[in-house]
Amino acid sequence: MRIDLAPFRVARQDGLERTQVFTLPAGPTPLGAGTDLHDVATVVAEVAGGPRGVRVGITANLDLRCPCARCLDDVPVALEVRYAEEWRLQGVRPAAGDPAGGADEDGWTVRRAIPRDDHLVEIDDGFWQNVALELPVKVLCAEGCRGLCPRCGANRNRSNCACRDEAVDPRLAALTDWRPESTR
Ligand SMILES: [Zn+2]
Ligand SMILES: [Zn+2]
Repeated sequence: MRIDLAPFRVARQDGLERTQVFTLPAGPTPLGAGTDLHDVATVVAEVAGGPRGVRVGITANLDLRCPCARCLDDVPVALEVRYAEEWRLQGVRPAAGDPAGGADEDGWTVRRAIPRDDHLVEIDDGFWQNVALELPVKVLCAEGCRGLCPRCGANRNRSNCACRDEAVDPRLAALTDWRPESTR
């Protein structure tokens, strides 16, 4: 996804607005860890500004699938991602009456300075960082997910495996999750 800055570089003043729409294919995402896009997603970039700088507002609705933290089943996670960045465009001639290099004093909260030769600016890294921030810390298929059997790996939500169910003191139950294989 690349933002086209050319129209803003040549604009005579602020106030120019452009909308760019990107389509992300379904499939694996840079988030890794089994987090996939279940459906194609649309990312809308609304760019506003002029030769000194632009504000880039991003909006996207993502239909993700993430593995359950306990049983690893796919869990649908619908995310709305919304953020904005302000970029200062370097290497432009200051407007008449504008002191050279004074762009920072004009109310721009500069997140990023874009070199003069960059007309197409990649936003993928920032986009996926913002998606990661929106993801729940722990994804569960259900509050009461029973997870996988630590002995045979069977999904306990679907079947009771043949492993002998040892009575475990509930105060120690949390420990069974990381009991090493060798103790079977
Ligand atoms: Zn689960
Ligand atoms: Zn089992």
